[in-house]
Amino acid sequence: MNTIVNYDGSIKTHPRMVVQPASAAEIQAILRDKSHHPSPVRAKGSYHSLTPCVSSDGTIIDMARMNRVVDISPERMTFTAQAGLQFVDAQKALRAKGLQFITNIEIGNLTLGSAACCHTKDALDGAEFGQVSSYVTGIKWITPDGQLGEASETENPELLRLMRSSYGLCGIVYEVTFRIKPLEAIHFSYLPRLIDELTQEEVDRIIDSSEGLTCWTVGRTAHFQMRRHADRPSLIGPVCAAIRRKFWSGIEAKAARFIEQRVPTTPLKNLARNRWFAGNRLIYSALHLAGGFSFSNPDKTIDYRSTSASGKYVFTFWAFPRRQWLETLRAYFDFAERHFKKYGFRCNMPLGSYYIRKDTGSLLSYTFDQDMFSIDPVHARTDEADWEQFLKEFNEFAYHRIGVPLLNQSPFVEQRHVAAAYGIRWQEFSARVREIDPDGRLSNPFFDALLSRAEVPA
Ligand SMILES: Cc1cc2nc3c(=O)[nH]c(=O)nc-3n(C[C@H](O)[C@H](O)[C@H](O)COP(=O)(O)OP(=O)(O)OC[C@H]3O[C@@H](n4cnc5c(N)ncnc54)[C@H](O)[C@@H]3O)c2cc1C
Repeated sequence: MNTIVNYDGSIKTHPRMVVQPASAAEIQAILRDKSHHPSPVRAKGSYHSLTPCVSSDGTIIDMARMNRVVDISPERMTFTAQAGLQFVDAQKALRAKGLQFITNIEIGNLTLGSAACCHTKDALDGAEFGQVSSYVTGIKWITPDGQLGEASETENPELLRLMRSSYGLCGIVYEVTFRIKPLEAIHFSYLPRLIDELTQEEVDRIIDSSEGLTCWTVGRTAHFQMRRHADRPSLIGPVCAAIRRKFWSGIEAKAARFIEQRVPTTPLKNLARNRWFAGNRLIYSALHLAGGFSFSNPDKTIDYRSTSASGKYVFTFWAFPRRQWLETLRAYFDFAERHFKKYGFRCNMPLGSYYIRKDTGSLLSYTFDQDMFSIDPVHARTDEADWEQFLKEFNEFAYHRIGVPLLNQSPFVEQRHVAAAYGIRWQEFSARVREIDPDGRLSNPFFDALLSRAEVPA
């Protein structure tokens, strides 16, 4: 029996066939041959998704062998590669020519195929757009019945807008073209603020003065992390960037897990967690006092390929209208406290928030109507049931506050969540998927349960 698992092993699937095509023609043959390659046919990148969006008991197309760079054009400022190439590897090829992506997303193991057709977030490089697919200028794919498909910003831009959020439901992407730019240096600075003292006016000022913005809340202190252009990397910048990558690719989750599993008794665990969080706050405050650091932009991307099981973390992501963020964040703390009192569970890592600007680049853009600021509980999982229960209750919390979930990064998302969040666009998306794939060759039970059956109003 074939078994495929996602990044942290929380999702398992048992497809009858797992294939690793090396060319578009092989993908065509797979899609046409229903008897040897049973439905649903799902593409798999590196399965860093936190929902069963890849899963299939029919056929999984693993894109790993299609990882070739096709073209780098400094004249047109475009980069074209096969869909199975991972972001970190693409960055290396670009860097060798003094070039870089516009969005140097922090998840280096995102494959370009997934980047082109799924939800992504990167706030720090989000001076213009924080969703990677908005910089995808062309996509080539194989349709559900095995035909060649293609769209670009100049040829069929409306279809490109659909494909940018198609999740493999309208076709298997085999080649992607991105807009790129010359390699640049960036500067990170940090600002600690107590949640209880923050005002919406201050949050607005911080947002309006930032090119790119994330916020890491540790205890009840929000650490705003702001990005701006720099002329060159600072002396200690590359070292600070390397330490930052080490923290996220292992240290932070290992420490959280160690406290949970190895420290005896609840009072001692609480003490150890408080000390660790105090250490985190000290680092952010020291960075604030030092004025931050500058480094090469692609060095913000993290490679999780060698992260051990003990260093892995998981998270969920819901985005909220900018004006509602502070109020929602405070309500989140009340919710998390109530949850802890009731069930004895709380997240053991800093809480993330990504500021993502309005972007109509894809049909399912989660910032289609306005700027959004997210609330992302992050956790080093030690007990699956506790985390699952928390996620489901957090979904209710977020749903009632007009939050917007992502199909690959918000576990246990339900149809009523996406229908409320994406509104008429969800119906339009569902109708387009039905039209392109009437036999459901590419849809799995996860998407079947989410897609709307309602007719799109004329
Ligand atoms: C530790 C960690 C950190 C993360 N950090 C971030 C972050 O900073 N920003 C962010 O946005 N996300 C982040 N993520 C989430 C992750 O980037 C997304 O879930 C992303 O979709 C994963 O890419 P993948 O290549 O693993 O895609 P997969 O999980 O393999 O697939 C995702 C979806 O895309 C479809 N798909 C994949 N390839 C193709 C193709 N060639 N053609 C058609 N459909 C395809 C799949 O069928 C599936 O529906 C993180 C995840 C983890 C575990």
